[in-house]
Amino acid sequence: MELAELVARRPFPAAGLLLGLTRRCPLSCAHCSTGSDLFTREEPDAGHLERFVGSFTTENRPDVVMLTGGEPLLRPALAERLSTLARGAGSRTALLSGMFFARSGGGRGGGVRGGRSGGVRGGRSGGVRGGRSGRRGAIPPAVLRAIRSVDHFSASLDVHHEREVSRADVFRALHLVREEGVAVSLHLTGTGGSDPYLADLTRAVEKEFGGRVPCLVNEVRPFGRAASWARAARTGPDPEAASPCSMAAWPVVAFDGRVLACCNQDAVDRRPAPAHLDLGHIAEDDWATVRRRALESPVLRMLRTVGPAHLAARFGSGPRPGSYCDGCRALGGDAAVAAGAQAVAGGAAGELLDLTAAMRGSREGAQGVVRRHGCAAYAPLVVAGGPALPEAGERDIR
Ligand code: SF4
Ligand code: SF4
Repeated sequence: MELAELVARRPFPAAGLLLGLTRRCPLSCAHCSTGSDLFTREEPDAGHLERFVGSFTTENRPDVVMLTGGEPLLRPALAERLSTLARGAGSRTALLSGMFFARSGGGRGGGVRGGRSGGVRGGRSGGVRGGRSGRRGAIPPAVLRAIRSVDHFSASLDVHHEREVSRADVFRALHLVREEGVAVSLHLTGTGGSDPYLADLTRAVEKEFGGRVPCLVNEVRPFGRAASWARAARTGPDPEAASPCSMAAWPVVAFDGRVLACCNQDAVDRRPAPAHLDLGHIAEDDWATVRRRALESPVLRMLRTVGPAHLAARFGSGPRPGSYCDGCRALGGDAAVAAGAQAVAGGAAGELLDLTAAMRGSREGAQGVVRRHGCAAYAPLVVAGGPALPEAGERDIR
């Protein structure tokens, strides 16, 4: 499964499921919003996860299951079992890693011995000069088994990750994964279309892999890796105008096993979860129940079709806090909003509205999704072998 197929499913409610396997991570990226480190024990019970994924059937399962964290490869046997279970029901699986296992130097920035990578500063990564990286370092067997079990493997790379694992080490490991026959991609993050770091990094990826490794490029924001698929739509000049949130489409299993309707990090982390974003718990609920709640909730349908600001302006009875997602979370428990959403989106008309919004969101395929929710200037890179990027000066600069 290629990255573009996966991203193109993003606007469709319950077409995907994000599973946070653990909050733990051996790396210490400065921008980590999940607060991950090696000592944080918070992670869902393995038995609950297996039971939940085991409840998929060939008729009722997500199309895509994304294994995330923290670092999901800290639980490699579990990742393998979950992937095997999901694929048995017909789902396709993807795993997103911070690439701790690729680190060749054994310490921070190990692969960039002698200081930080030039690539971090706008030049080329020392380890990648001269083209394709070498073949040093093997992938640990348990990690490799987990990687072989998924349909798609993604590696995170940005200025903070490069201080933990070098670009050269990540590239080297990606070559090995590709040689296993697993489709790969890179999740890159920068400050926007004019970011020289992103320009350098995407050039380096092109040089290393010749256009065969697609990239999902996002802009820096206060979310974690699990949410790198998931930035909410920007609001326009009129904060009350319809601004749908297609991120309320894929359920997310949080580190305590609770299932949320979106991957906004505050929604995932804070308890109690806002009622309209709470889809249940993997200890008690099966996939069919979670899916039904995600699809049939009138408030979620309204979030996906008109967004939280419009919903609050139309029906809300409480104060409207600042940001797009703050405003959304504040809708939880507002009976007037629930009643208004029920009246507008409760029946077959609501179902149709929801489907229409998803179709609209998917109209331009994966590139359209990235243009709206990621870094628009680099949207073509989501397709392997996609069209060449325009020169820097011609890009959509934000
Ligand atoms: S950003 Fe990702 S790779 Fe980095 S510390 Fe956090 S979970 Fe680990
Ligand atoms: S908090 Fe609400 S608006 Fe924000 S991503 Fe989640 S569902 Fe969308």
